[in-house]
Amino acid sequence: GEPLAYILGRREFYSLSLGVGPAVLVPRPETETLVEAALERLSAQPGQRVLDLGTGSGAIALALRRERSDIDVTAVDIEPDALALARRNAAALDLELRFLESDWYAAVAGERFDMIVSNPPYVASSDRHFDGPLAREPRIALDGGPDGLDAYRSILAGSAGALTPGGQLLVEHGYDQREAVIALADASGLVCEAALDDLAGLARVACFRLRAA
Ligand code: GLN
Repeated sequence: GEPLAYILGRREFYSLSLGVGPAVLVPRPETETLVEAALERLSAQPGQRVLDLGTGSGAIALALRRERSDIDVTAVDIEPDALALARRNAAALDLELRFLESDWYAAVAGERFDMIVSNPPYVASSDRHFDGPLAREPRIALDGGPDGLDAYRSILAGSAGALTPGGQLLVEHGYDQREAVIALADASGLVCEAALDDLAGLARVACFRLRAA
């Protein structure tokens, strides 16, 4: 049951070779859909400020920074072991990012970002996959509470205070969570501009913009 990526200590994501270990979720191909959407939607203006919430191995943040050397990326995680690994990945790839230990927005309070991205924990606590394929990966990176939506509640509640006017928020979500995530976002003042499927044809990414005040 041990994920191959933990045995090898590496996984490829968006053409980057990343170090991975039991402190982080193994980067998954469906998350590349989020990276592609972010790159398409990010303003071409240099110096865009991007925040990755719950960066884990750093996969999303590193992929974005590799494709756009002009952007200013902050990646946060609540787990020191995950951050240590993400920092090592950045150093090995010679990519400059800011890494902060943070419970969602706590360490970036008062800052504003042009784009927030996140692949948060979104599996419902009672999901039977926790006894099978997901058993070896960190529960904190996967378990989204009773309905799997707890992380979205936190991320969305804080988003208006962390986005620039017209700023964007892009999240990965579970195959059956699109409508629920869009409804939560609407209640937080975010307009859904795109809802994307992953390469397996499953609902996977939602793209929002902060409604003008
Ligand atoms: N896509 C992952 C899985 O079920 C879940 C990742 C997450 O919770 N962010 O395998």
